[in-house]
Amino acid sequence: MSLLSSEISEALGKGSWIRRIFEQGAEMKKIYGEDNVYDFSLGNPDLPSPGVVGECLAELAARATEPFAFGYMPNAGYPHVREALAAQVAQEQEAPVTGADLLLSCGAAGGINAFFRAVLTQGDEVICPRPYFVEYGFYVGNHGGKLVTVPTQPDFDLDVPALLAAITPRTRVVLLNSPNNPTGVIYSEKTIWALAHGLTAENAKREKPILLLADEPYRFLTYDGARVPSIMNIYAYTVVVSSFSKNLSLAGERIGYVALAPQMPGKEELMAGVVFANRILGYVNAPAIGQAILLKALGQQVDASVYAERRDAMAKVLSDAGYEFVMPAGAFYFFPKAPGGDDVAFVEKLCKERVLAVPGSGFGMPGHFRLTFCVGTKVILGAAEGFKKAIVG
Ligand code: PLP
Repeated sequence: MSLLSSEISEALGKGSWIRRIFEQGAEMKKIYGEDNVYDFSLGNPDLPSPGVVGECLAELAARATEPFAFGYMPNAGYPHVREALAAQVAQEQEAPVTGADLLLSCGAAGGINAFFRAVLTQGDEVICPRPYFVEYGFYVGNHGGKLVTVPTQPDFDLDVPALLAAITPRTRVVLLNSPNNPTGVIYSEKTIWALAHGLTAENAKREKPILLLADEPYRFLTYDGARVPSIMNIYAYTVVVSSFSKNLSLAGERIGYVALAPQMPGKEELMAGVVFANRILGYVNAPAIGQAILLKALGQQVDASVYAERRDAMAKVLSDAGYEFVMPAGAFYFFPKAPGGDDVAFVEKLCKERVLAVPGSGFGMPGHFRLTFCVGTKVILGAAEGFKKAIVG
């Protein structure tokens, strides 16, 4: 007998192979020792947060006895933090975003859920290129929507005609993530323009325009001078979601934001809806401590050069072993082809070599596997032998 809803019970069953990797990994670490298992499975940022985070916490500790130091606040977040963050987002997005265009959320995940709760009606569709961050399916489903995934090009760039062809009268949102998890691809300005043109033409035929949700927690992390274009600047119905989980290594503190394109018609009502949804989903407001940290740390980030070095080390290990992959332009993932084509079987082979990876099936794209470089270069180099053995064995 299960006490669960059939939907959650089914979801737990489907995710069981991901759990198996984690459980197998934990078991292997016990047997072989932490240093002898090469774990590339989890995207948990391992770089230390900038020093300013600790300074901020010390200041907060000194103020902790003041009344309302951590009291309820407006559901959208502290107004002065929204204002200060808006100035930074305006710079990043090259668009005149103000505090009123912005909600502080419980990470990007909380922001995405508040947004979907505000805009989706039962049966509405959200189009997303695949491979994709696996949680999207759940986030859309949480609010009665359906995730419709569309293949990308061989280099993982958007297939704009395919995305546009997937539009139906129920399409409410197109969801993009750039730099991308799991591929590391960055969509070019030209590609975004092509998509925006298509969506604008589509909007002329419908009552409610299609919203473009840009999930950008990896905007700060690009390589070889690559630039992430501002989608907000290109398409008026853009909503940007981001967080400080990766750029400040604050993933456990749950702090992020939702920002609306300043030129969006109807943005005041949309923002009121997202703020309300954030409240009734039980997030209430973003954490007070996270807001204080982000305010103090604005403009700072972890040392991204460390990720760049690891990317190069990983690329060398993979090419030396003969893997086929697209070099990531941003974020901290590789998404190589699984030799032999069966990603689940290949990940098991890697596991035998004490190398932990996640099959592409988990991202809606079998035939590949994902490696995260949230681990030191020593681990990457240590895994070289295992990568070589798995490919020939
Ligand atoms: N979106 C993408 C593409 C991610 O990779 C992640 C986390 O890994 C999230 C959203 C959620 O991040 P947050 O910790 O800000 O909720």
